[in-house]
Amino acid sequence: MTQPETKTAETTNSNDDYVVGVDIGGTKILAAVIDAEGTIKSQSKTGTKAKQEVDQVIDRIARCIRRAIKRSGLETSQVRAIGMGCAGTLDPDTGLVILAVNLGWSNVPLRAKLEERMGIPTFIDNDVNVGTLGEAVLGAGKGVKDLVGIFVGTGIGGGIILDGQLFHGANKLAGEVGHMIVKAGGPRCGCGNRGCLEAVASRTAITRQLRKAILKEGKKSILPKLNGGNLDMIRGGALAKAVTRGDKLTTKIMRRTEKYLGMGIASIVNFLSPQMIVLGGGVIEAMGSEFIDAVHKVTLKYALPNTMNDFQIVKAKLGDEAVIMGGSVLARRMLEKEPLEEKIDEA
Ligand SMILES: [Zn+2]
Repeated sequence: MTQPETKTAETTNSNDDYVVGVDIGGTKILAAVIDAEGTIKSQSKTGTKAKQEVDQVIDRIARCIRRAIKRSGLETSQVRAIGMGCAGTLDPDTGLVILAVNLGWSNVPLRAKLEERMGIPTFIDNDVNVGTLGEAVLGAGKGVKDLVGIFVGTGIGGGIILDGQLFHGANKLAGEVGHMIVKAGGPRCGCGNRGCLEAVASRTAITRQLRKAILKEGKKSILPKLNGGNLDMIRGGALAKAVTRGDKLTTKIMRRTEKYLGMGIASIVNFLSPQMIVLGGGVIEAMGSEFIDAVHKVTLKYALPNTMNDFQIVKAKLGDEAVIMGGSVLARRMLEKEPLEEKIDEA
């Protein structure tokens, strides 16, 4: 039997067209009610407490969403859908979280469990994919059809938008730009390989290089002072300040970071020919525009002729809101694709 054509009876306008975008990370959950123009109407934030039982964490997610809805003054029934970005490996089609290390989850049917609690159609995807979608539709990449998002934090994550759509690949793992190998035989990566982009250019890699130079080799640097007197995970703001103040060691290590990022991006450009790279994450967002310009220069050096015509590398715009904004885009797009079962019954 073919599916009947479905149309909702009520027409939607921006006054009654709301969805909820959710960002589920290892430490915090963020939920926001967002309208059709991508404006946040209300939001709510809570700790993930990932050590708790799976169902308790999902209860927390549901409570966070309900609180955001309550703050918007809407009824739950007025929210059309929920779009979530969740850290880890997951299957967007089945809504199953296959493995999320920082949540301690494996094979959790997140979509089903959330729908059961909220009674609202729910869609999920990997958080970096959702963040990239947010930047592509509502952020730095507005109007760009082919782009790659690269987010530099403790690791390096990526998302691919081709012809305006998220690209997942056969095993739904596409976009792992952090594990492109840019230095054969280089430092060991968390994935087990050596010389991945993440192992040479993430915040973790930058921290490791600074610790080694200062603690083992006795190099001088103002960085520990700028980072609260320690060399634990170094904040983007401290790196940016050290470079601005002319700290030689930090400048040298950030030059190296620019080089590896530029090489990685050149490989992406040569292989995929995107129109834009959106660079985000704490480290990048803290650095000045000179950093992006330097990465662009390195990219230009390694990219094949004509691959960089009208090509741009831009800084991400949405910051911590990228995933909730992307979640709202995901929710709207999936609603269009998958009409609700109730609507099918009515038709
Ligand atoms: Zn790796």
